[in-house]
Amino acid sequence: LTDRLSKALKNLTGKGKIHEEDLQASLREIRLALLEADVSYATVKKFIANIKEKAKGAEILDGLNAPQQVVKIVNDELTALMGEEAAPLNKSEKIPTVIMMAGLQGAGKTTTVAKLAYKLKKEDKARPLMIAADVYRPAAIDQLEVLGKDLDIPVFSEGTDVDPREIVKHGLKEAKANKNDYVFIDTAGRLQIDEELMTELKDIATIASPDEILLTVDAMTGQNATETAQGFSDALDLTGVVLTKLDGDTRGGAALSIRDVTGKPIKFVGQGEKPTDLDVFYPDRMASRILGMGDMLTFIEKAQKEVDEKKQAEQLEKMRQNTFDFNDFVDQLKQVQNMGPMEDLMKMIPGMAGNPALQNLSIDPKTFTHMEAIVSSMTKQERENPDLLNPSRRRRLAAGAGRPIVEVNKMIKQFDQMKKMMNQATKGNFSGMEQMMGG
Ligand code: GDP
Ligand code: MG
Repeated sequence: LTDRLSKALKNLTGKGKIHEEDLQASLREIRLALLEADVSYATVKKFIANIKEKAKGAEILDGLNAPQQVVKIVNDELTALMGEEAAPLNKSEKIPTVIMMAGLQGAGKTTTVAKLAYKLKKEDKARPLMIAADVYRPAAIDQLEVLGKDLDIPVFSEGTDVDPREIVKHGLKEAKANKNDYVFIDTAGRLQIDEELMTELKDIATIASPDEILLTVDAMTGQNATETAQGFSDALDLTGVVLTKLDGDTRGGAALSIRDVTGKPIKFVGQGEKPTDLDVFYPDRMASRILGMGDMLTFIEKAQKEVDEKKQAEQLEKMRQNTFDFNDFVDQLKQVQNMGPMEDLMKMIPGMAGNPALQNLSIDPKTFTHMEAIVSSMTKQERENPDLLNPSRRRRLAAGAGRPIVEVNKMIKQFDQMKKMMNQATKGNFSGMEQMMGG
């Protein structure tokens, strides 16, 4: 065995808990990273305390050193806190779905309305109507109208002399008459939260009973973003948040504090001024961004890779001992699938390039899903002891997986071939085998 491989095997026994000093040191770094990324002090404090609890109990994964381990826990926890998965827009059962904006002046409400309406129009063939309810600045209405014209999306406006509540009422009536499926209400903002604005927004919410009240927050405002979010969240039943201007150099830590103080999902992020510069919010990507430092991620990736290598080493060992079974087969296929086309990988084994068995081993992704279905129809005994798979059992597998019997036969044959081939490879030339397995 090569050095690395034997090291990987040695790691098998390298279990333990994270030491207090390692933990403290790692947490110090992470605390700084979060504060630098504009996560609010209160959220950082809460978060670190939580991580400390989690990390204390955690066993060190094989292949991860303590700081890597802590970073991984932090990354996972950040992702979990921000909602795990992208949250879609609420949709009303009857048309129109009403989406109301809220946020400070300059946060990006008007831009976001146009971006979202355009996205829906493009992706869902929606027929949105945009209501111009910011009557305090004439330019605000013009801005929406220009956007509407450019994107070919209708805008409802009544100038600056009508009360915004009335405009919203009239706009909704218009949407009903025109059977618009989405209505966006572009509201006014202020430089600071004030009573008058909040009252107006509350009134509009009562009139329109929106399916979404999206708070728009400028990510560049850093620590202030949290305070803003708190203020709006206290006054309105927010349903979600749009974080704008993430194309700037902010690390976007506001995402975490906003989520923390509002409890509402961040649904979209603005990444520029153009109508197409709007993306669904992905908590995992945001977590990485907040932690910043490419290093931290490389860190994690490297650690993850080492874990995979360990798994491969285990499988090699199994093959050597001839205990390679269908569970390993599926594991192996999964890993190989992550690496690229099977044929290419097999060709890396010296002497394999011209082997006719390669033809049978070419595996496309769909075939792989089918194989997995067949294997999951096997009993535990069958997986561990493929010799049990007589014709009647094979028929049962075919029925269970909903695949033709010839496919079951073919797969078992491939399994046999793979096993045989791997046996040869493990006996003969280890370096080829290692190459194939991603070394
Ligand atoms: P509102 O006052 O909340 O309606 O804000 P606007 O939609 O008028 O946006 C204020 C300014 O921010 C405009 O110049 C927008 O072009 C700009 N803006 C909005 N969203 C983004 C974004 O995601 N990235 C960048 N770079 N600029 C944005
Ligand atoms: Mg505006």
